[in-house]
Amino acid sequence: MLPYLSHKEAMKRRYGEALFSIPVNLDFGCPNRERDGSGGCTFCPEHGARAAQIADAQSVEEQIEKAILFAKKRYNATSFALYIQAYTGTFTSLLKQKEAYENLLKLHPFRALHVGTRPDCLSEATLEYLATLNTQLDVVVELGVQSLHDVSLKRINRGHSAEASLEAIRRLHVKGLKVYAHLIIGFPDENFLMWEASVRGLVEAGIDGIKFHHLHIISGTQLACEYEAEPFKVLSEYEYAEALMALLRIIPSHIPIIRLATDTPQKELIAPLWQMEKGHFGEYIAQSMRYSGIRQGDLVETHPEAENEIPHFVHLNDGSTTFYSTCYKDYYHPKAGAYTQARTLFNAGSCLQERLEKSDVALLDIGFGMGYNTLEAIKIAQKCSIFSLHVKAMEQDRMLLRQSSKVVGEALHVKMLETLFAGKTYEEAYATIEFQNVEARYGVQTLDGLFDIIFHDPFVEHNNASLVSVEFLRLLKTHLKPTGILVASTSYQAVHDALILAGFEVEIVAHEGSDIKGVIAKPLEGSTSLHVSHPYHDPYLVWSDKKIESEHQISYM
Ligand code: SF4
Repeated sequence: MLPYLSHKEAMKRRYGEALFSIPVNLDFGCPNRERDGSGGCTFCPEHGARAAQIADAQSVEEQIEKAILFAKKRYNATSFALYIQAYTGTFTSLLKQKEAYENLLKLHPFRALHVGTRPDCLSEATLEYLATLNTQLDVVVELGVQSLHDVSLKRINRGHSAEASLEAIRRLHVKGLKVYAHLIIGFPDENFLMWEASVRGLVEAGIDGIKFHHLHIISGTQLACEYEAEPFKVLSEYEYAEALMALLRIIPSHIPIIRLATDTPQKELIAPLWQMEKGHFGEYIAQSMRYSGIRQGDLVETHPEAENEIPHFVHLNDGSTTFYSTCYKDYYHPKAGAYTQARTLFNAGSCLQERLEKSDVALLDIGFGMGYNTLEAIKIAQKCSIFSLHVKAMEQDRMLLRQSSKVVGEALHVKMLETLFAGKTYEEAYATIEFQNVEARYGVQTLDGLFDIIFHDPFVEHNNASLVSVEFLRLLKTHLKPTGILVASTSYQAVHDALILAGFEVEIVAHEGSDIKGVIAKPLEGSTSLHVSHPYHDPYLVWSDKKIESEHQISYM
């Protein structure tokens, strides 16, 4: 189950199935543009966001026929909603509007009608007409709100105020019509607090659905000219995902999230040029929310605490306990034990004690997991007690901390896990731990400073290829002091090769009679040109593990 109410799920609840949206371009024009097409919102291309799959169709009948065929063939769609999408679907006389809508609705037994429009383009007569239609099939008005900040609306030449949007929502609701608001995240000079205020304003207005997307800078638009003259900040995949997840938390869970992101044809898009596929972006949002234990509306609703099922666990040879991961189909630790792995591979391999006898040590723990490696490290700091250990721990699956705290044996371990789960920092006189609940590729890009030691636990490396690519290891190297050391719990050939290409000198660790394996890597100056055979590549640090693995297979076939 998704941690937010998707449009698909909302439709299933209402209609018993998902309706496929059939976009149609009526070319009524737009009141915010001149007759020759000039002017308009600064982000909007002249074709007014036409649906790409029907852009070359001649008549509206042909548009509908093409779109239904496309949906049946590609998605096995059976039920449809008509979506008057491009430009402003109510910008014409009532007579023409009625004639156009009624002709279209005769073409197919649509179960719903969505009308895209602007807040200032809803006459009383149009509202009356839509209310009448609403008695025959569901009518939803898709309202371009974009922002609830007048300063931004002015800057993007939107031509109406925030109050106009709120007033339009009120008037539509009075007529019993549903309203989905379109909201753009990332306008220049807007910040998270402003996005949050826009979302809160829409929720207070009783909105029936929200369609999000991040700002796209499209060629030929006024915004593109502004961007080219003076580039401004646009949102990367990870930045937008962070913002979106935080916004979903303040939207009550009964409000469907109609869309998370949008597509612009690659040839028209100037920025941001994302490398994360749209499908992967949706999965990333859902997965990250699950791992963080958050969901839509959890900051504004009281729910009984979600059940936190404890995964299957076993006791290992040294008395430690580990979980079985159904996702990776393996145990998190070797049979020899999690304590033994932490002590003999990570702590001994990084010479932690010797370092702590000479100075403070900065440690980056990637893939914190059940916390054994950091636990054993802080025990050494406690024993040395002259200098301090400062740990930055990264783990995408925050729930693992809570689950682990229920099965690990030592009081110090339980205390550390519970404290980090609740508050993200743990402090003792001899050690500090700062926990970051984040995808490591993004988390490492936001780090300041250099580390003496990096612990890297990619777990099942061929399923976690994003954590062992040449590019990720190169990134890690930029955060390692010249005298630093990286210890990883893998001796997989692809990781060995990637470390060499990333500019490390690599030593393989294998203890006889034990299933503990690993590598100790020291940074070399520059990178090597040595020929190695099978590294993983993740050129933009955003690909899914599956894509990295499949590209890896293709390139070595
Ligand atoms: S976004 Fe809508 S209102 Fe703005 S110019 Fe484009 S079609 Fe017109």
